[in-house]
Amino acid sequence: MPTKPKLGQNFLRDPQAIQRIVAALGNLSSRTVVEIGPGKGAITEALASRAGHLIAIELDRELAWNLQERFSPEKGVSNVSVVRKDVLEFDFAAAAKEAGQPLLVVGNLPYYITSPILLRLAAQASSLERAVLMVQREVADRVTADHGSRDYGLLSATLQLYGPAENLFTLPPEAFAPPPEVHSTVFRWSFVPTFAQLGVTEAPFISFLKQCFAQKRKTLSNNLRAAGFTADAIAKAYTSAEVPAQVRAEALPIDKFAAIWRTLVEG
Ligand code: SAM
Repeated sequence: MPTKPKLGQNFLRDPQAIQRIVAALGNLSSRTVVEIGPGKGAITEALASRAGHLIAIELDRELAWNLQERFSPEKGVSNVSVVRKDVLEFDFAAAAKEAGQPLLVVGNLPYYITSPILLRLAAQASSLERAVLMVQREVADRVTADHGSRDYGLLSATLQLYGPAENLFTLPPEAFAPPPEVHSTVFRWSFVPTFAQLGVTEAPFISFLKQCFAQKRKTLSNNLRAAGFTADAIAKAYTSAEVPAQVRAEALPIDKFAAIWRTLVEG
């Protein structure tokens, strides 16, 4: 039986995919780019030759050490900072402040912590401009799904609050060494938070979405009842949002959730 690689280490070995990932980030010449999980440097190499400044965050001690050696002033590289750290503890806001500009983020993510990384990026969205990320295909499909589609759910609704996401291309397991058990998809996420436009407040609205999607088989109304809202309050909110009584959360676009929330919470 194949053993699972430690720290989600499936290294990309498809040169064309590397070029497509870097190209999808846009012009990097005067930009600070953060690479999550540079590993053995497959994407790092292509980024280093294009970016104004590259911050490469790698948790694995040995890999980080090798990268520090390879991308060093002694080797003629002065625009790369290798940081040995858990990306979940990296302070994107401080890095953006130091750079004097919002960051571009890129990475073939370690799949065992994909969701925590995506939620961390969302939480730091005001310091970010754009991300190009490789994740398990099923996760990318959920992140980028439109309401009403099979893959749309809490992850889609929550992450899209921070800006639009689109799938770019998919790679088979053989594009990596060792090959993972799944296909992988690269998606691009542009950070343009929508809270002000929707008239909602970030933290309470995200908690509300969790209540809305709590049980997939139930109607939205039943989920809201379970969360403590009265039938009368729900009916009033549905009328003002022009939402049908039997609707399920999966069918609703985000502006409808916002309209329901505004009536339920603000009356
Ligand atoms: N970018 C390389 C490539 O495409 O070949 C490696 C990608 S590999 C899927 C994920 C990388 O993330 C590994 O190098 C792994 O050591 C690193 N990693 C795992 N957990 C991490 C964490 N919490 N913080 C930072 N890096 C992490």
